[in-house]
Amino acid sequence: MAARVDLDGKPIKPLTICMIGAGGFIGSHLCEKLMAETPHKVLGLDVYSDKIKHLLEPAGAHPWSDRIQFHRLNIKNDSRLEGLIKMSDLTINLAAICTPADYNTRPLDTIYSNFIDALPVVKYCSENNKRLIHFSTCEVYGKTIGSFLPKDSPLRKEPEYFVLKEDESPCIFGPIEKQRWSYACAKQLIERLIYAEGAENGMEFTIVRPFNWIGPRMDFIPGIDGPSEGVPRVLACFSNNLLRHEPLKLVDGGVSQRTFVYIKDAIEAVMLMIENPARANGHIFNVGNPNNEVTVRQLAEMMTDVYSKVSGEPSLEEPTVDVSSQEFYGVGYDDSDKRIPDMTIINKQLGWDPKTSLWDLLESTLTYQHRTYAEAMKQAIAKPAAN
Ligand code: NAD
Ligand code: UDP
Repeated sequence: MAARVDLDGKPIKPLTICMIGAGGFIGSHLCEKLMAETPHKVLGLDVYSDKIKHLLEPAGAHPWSDRIQFHRLNIKNDSRLEGLIKMSDLTINLAAICTPADYNTRPLDTIYSNFIDALPVVKYCSENNKRLIHFSTCEVYGKTIGSFLPKDSPLRKEPEYFVLKEDESPCIFGPIEKQRWSYACAKQLIERLIYAEGAENGMEFTIVRPFNWIGPRMDFIPGIDGPSEGVPRVLACFSNNLLRHEPLKLVDGGVSQRTFVYIKDAIEAVMLMIENPARANGHIFNVGNPNNEVTVRQLAEMMTDVYSKVSGEPSLEEPTVDVSSQEFYGVGYDDSDKRIPDMTIINKQLGWDPKTSLWDLLESTLTYQHRTYAEAMKQAIAKPAAN
């Protein structure tokens, strides 16, 4: 492997990385990248390992086998956590409950997972002078200022009323009974705590705010590799509908807007943070693709077209159906109206820009979904009829 240099031309020393939540969607892609392209070592922690099984097994069979270890543990209650952080140069914390269907139905688990359970991680990093890259969320911005303007106000079109800036935008959440915001609030408080550890105790940290990263291995397909009644994030919900040849469900008209970034682009940004601590420490970074903005309805229409292309199957005549948020998510759901990341800070500090268009990222992701799930879905659908 050619010697790696950082953005300032300095050689990069091989690191040991304690990755908490390594078995999740983002963790699996980060592990893949670190194993394939760097000399760094990963101590992966998670309660699940299915998404990184291909990197761990067969034991000893891969060129990277001696650089990745998996520790099956729950950070809520495991005394091994501090030792693993101490053994590492850098800790990356990805562990969280981060599925909107859980925010208002499992609010306590959501708050514990995103705030209380992250506390020991921050404490051990601070006490042992270890660098921390902590995953927060774009949801800490909450609603845009523009969403409070009259519907026909021309000001809604002014970027200052909706573009989300790390160091300027306020965090605007709904009332307490809208428990959707418990997630954002817990994430905001852990961000503030990490920031305070940096300010008062000199802890080296970087906070990442992902804006809808999507791609292969995101969440699960209900009834295939996850619970039948489970409600994953929108990519997996719509993939599930497409695989089942049923209409895609649009919550409250599908008018909310999102910007989607391809996981492989986003992982490049995380790599730059890992390998350029001098440029990344003390910063909060938006990581998203402002060029890929759509309404949820437009996303549904595009996914329908892309899926028809990659599967060769015609799309339904009525490809979408409306559903209320109360019916879909239960009481206490609310939504972020619009999420456009300002890219100034990450661009200036790390020179990162997203590359992949929404159509292209959906094409590769839905090709993966079709290849991975279409056969299993056919069998699952055929089974009840056979019984
Ligand atoms: P994910 O659910 O796929 O991964 C999280 C992983 O953490 C899971 O494998 C889970 O088993 C593990 N985990 C949770 N609690 C744990 C515990 N107590 N002990 C050990 N392991 C535990 O989610 P993801 O999409 O990979 O997200 C990772 C992080 O990024 C989260 O903090 C999330 O809030 C943040 N984020 C992601 C997105 C996105 O677009 N994917 C958007 C905003 C924020
Ligand atoms: N959504 C939808 N149908 C679904 C799943 C989600 O209309 O089957 C909407 C949801 O209400 C939200 C958007 O899609 O407006 C994105 O939801 P996701 O769960 O991916 O997470 P979020 O971006 O809200 O954190």
